[in-house]
This record gives sequence, C-alpha cells and structure tokens, in this order.
Amino acid sequence: MGQNAEWYERAKAVIPGGVSSPVRAFGAVGGTPIFFEKGQGASITDAEGRNFTDFVMSWGPLILGHAHPRIVEAVQKASALGTSFGAPCKDEVRLAELVHALHPAAEKVRFVSSGTEAVMSAVRLARGATGRKRILKFTGCYHGHSDALLVAAGSGLVTFGKPSSAGVPQEFTGLTSLLPLDDDEALETFFDQYGSECALALIEPVPANNGLLLQRPAFLQKLRTLTKKHGTLLLFDEVISGFRLGQGGASSHYGITPDLVTFGKIIGGGLPVGAFAGRAELMDLLAPTGPVYQAGTLSGNPVAMAAGLACLETLLETHAWESLEQKGQLLESAFNERCKPLNPPVDLIRIGSLFWLAPKGPPPRAAEALPDNLPKIYGQLFHALLEQGYYIAPSAFEIGFISTAHNSDDCLGLVEAWARFFESS
Ligand SMILES: *Cc1c(COP(=O)(O)O)cnc(C)c1O
Repeated sequence: MGQNAEWYERAKAVIPGGVSSPVRAFGAVGGTPIFFEKGQGASITDAEGRNFTDFVMSWGPLILGHAHPRIVEAVQKASALGTSFGAPCKDEVRLAELVHALHPAAEKVRFVSSGTEAVMSAVRLARGATGRKRILKFTGCYHGHSDALLVAAGSGLVTFGKPSSAGVPQEFTGLTSLLPLDDDEALETFFDQYGSECALALIEPVPANNGLLLQRPAFLQKLRTLTKKHGTLLLFDEVISGFRLGQGGASSHYGITPDLVTFGKIIGGGLPVGAFAGRAELMDLLAPTGPVYQAGTLSGNPVAMAAGLACLETLLETHAWESLEQKGQLLESAFNERCKPLNPPVDLIRIGSLFWLAPKGPPPRAAEALPDNLPKIYGQLFHALLEQGYYIAPSAFEIGFISTAHNSDDCLGLVEAWARFFESS
C-alpha cells in the first residue's frame, strides 16, 4: 500500500470519510485521496514524493502560490508575537482599511473565520436591518454550509446530486426562495409577488461553485434595480471573486455596487479568514453598536490578519491582476489552438484567472442548463492529468485557479496534458 492509501486508512478510522471537507475524498473521480506534504509556488508534493503542478490552489486562497515568502514571513513574525489575543489588534484595522479602500461596497468590514460564517452573519444582518424574513438565492450558487443556504447549492452538493442536506429541517429553509440564474422573467415575477417581504437577495456575481456560470451583466443589473425598487438588500458573495477579478472584485468588474459583500479565501492569504462588509449604516447595526448579534473568539486573529494583509499588499504592489489576466489569456488561446482542433467534448470558459472545462455548446449560464452526463469523462481526465503531473479539481463542477506563481510553461503544459487526453480518448 502506498503512503496515500495508508494515511487514508488511518484517517477513515477517526475522521468521517477520512476527510475534513467532502470533495477531498475523490468520490466524484474515484481513487485514493492525495495527502499533500508541501507546496512551493505553483508546485505541490504529496506523501509519496510525487510533484504536481497545482491548479486547485486550495480552491482560491493561494492567488500568490504556495508558501509565498511575504506571507510566510508575515505569519512567522505575527505568530512569534502571540497567536491570539481575543482582543483588537493593529493588523485587523490595517486589513479593514485596505478592504475599504479596494472594494466599492466595503464602507465597514467585520472579520470572521470562514466564508460560511461571513454569509450566515450577513443574512442575519440583512434580516435585522429590514425587519423582513424571506431571502432569495439562485440555484447552483454556493454560499457556505449554513442551514438556510443549503438549498440547491453548488460545490460538493452537486457532485452528490442532492438538492439539500439531511439535518436541515424544512422549516429552516422555508424562508429561502430559489430562482434560476439568467432568468429575467422569473426575477420580475418573484419581485412583483414577494419583493416587499424579501430582506435579502444573495448571489455569486461570478457563480463559480457549479462550474463557471458567467452571468449576463444585464441580469445582474436587473437584480440590482429590482432589489433597490423593493427595498431588498443585495449581497454579492465575493468569497471567490473578491480580490481575484481585480482589486474591487466582481462589483468593480460589472460596475454594480451591492449593499453587502462577503469575502473569504484570498482575504486570508491561505489562513482561515472570512469577512462581510457593506454600507456603514447597515454594518453599524451589528453588536456592539446595534442589535444584531455576531461574535467570534478567533475573529480578527492576529496571525490570520497578518497573512491576509501581506497577501493583499503583495497583489497591489505587483500589479498581480494584469499578469493573472495575461496568464488566463495564454491558457485560453493555447486551448483554442491545441485542443479545439481535436474536437473535445468540452469548451474552456474563463474569466481572469478562473477557468472551467464546460460541456461543449453555448456557455451555460444557469445550473439547469448543465447536462447530467458532465462528470462522465471527468474522472478519466482527472487521473490522466495526475499521471502527467497536473493536479486539477477532483470534481467536474469545480473550477481551476491560476496564481501569480504559475508561469507560461505551467499553463501551456496543462493545455498539452488536456490535449494528450483528448487525443487518446
Ligand atoms: C468557498 C465559498 C463559500 C464558503 O466559504 P468557506 O470558507 O468554505 O466556509 C461561500 N461562498 C462562496 C461563493 C464560496 O466560494
């Protein structure tokens, strides 16, 4: 038995399914989960000493690559001064100031420890602010695993074909309304009927947890217009797109300012951080200034704040978003040149440094448009790429991430590995 298999057996004895998050179990692609030992730049090494070029990048946080020197130094320095105070620290103020300066919706910021927590808290805030109960989400958008939002979410839930989760009473999701993405008419009908009782509409402006379902800007604009008209707050869940699509995330990209925004992943530079932000008068409704309770023992943790600050500062100082766009363009043009002539069953969908192998055809914009057979060849593709030294997401519904540590050869190599698979299958 190899090292990965041995560790997996040990893990399964004491951890449900052997993993701390379901997609890691390789259920959708088969085979033994990989235990990673170290990462450097765009490269990761597993327990058996095999090296891979990594296009998962911890699902987004590692926009600067693994073990970036600035982040490692920041973590070392901060941790030597104490790993937690349960009290305010300077770096949390600095990071909040930076988020405020970069994102158009972030007048005030509150830090938490995960994206799940950020969205869950923002939903409470929206209900507290409006005195309304109903919330609106879109099929295929993932907003973390809090009860009210586990309705037709993406990520692992798609893989398992479950619309929801056991353990979530119907009563808990009864106030969560669900609409398809990309459907103007459904949106108008909903707001005509329920607009006045809806506290919050939340959406991934760049839906990236159920493939990459890029939205028509006009649909997002309509959502902004209708929410404003009906006094419903709008939340952009930018846990993936925040600081990824540029300094102002999807909000700046589309020129639409939501009332509330959530962050995660990149904002912690690889450490567990989430945040929610929004207009000052809304955010001031949070305890201790307002009646909406929200708290966290490790929120604003000094080590995590130092890592997040180092990450955002480095992105800004190195003009990272320009070079990330160039790498994305290179990947796309290489796919068109090398793979397209092979007539593969997939198309490449890309925005900035995010990419996804979509089913062939017009770019899907709604979860309902995705064919059932999508995962069929994906398991083979996944293992063929591992063989060639490329680690991509172990699920057809998860997207790929390019970091500043990836060079042209990494991107061209991935395309070549895809091409070899398409040639042989
Ligand atoms: C990852 C993600 C979350 C959940 O964040 P966690 O840190 O995994 O809890 C929420 N929303 C979106 C859009 C995400 O991509």
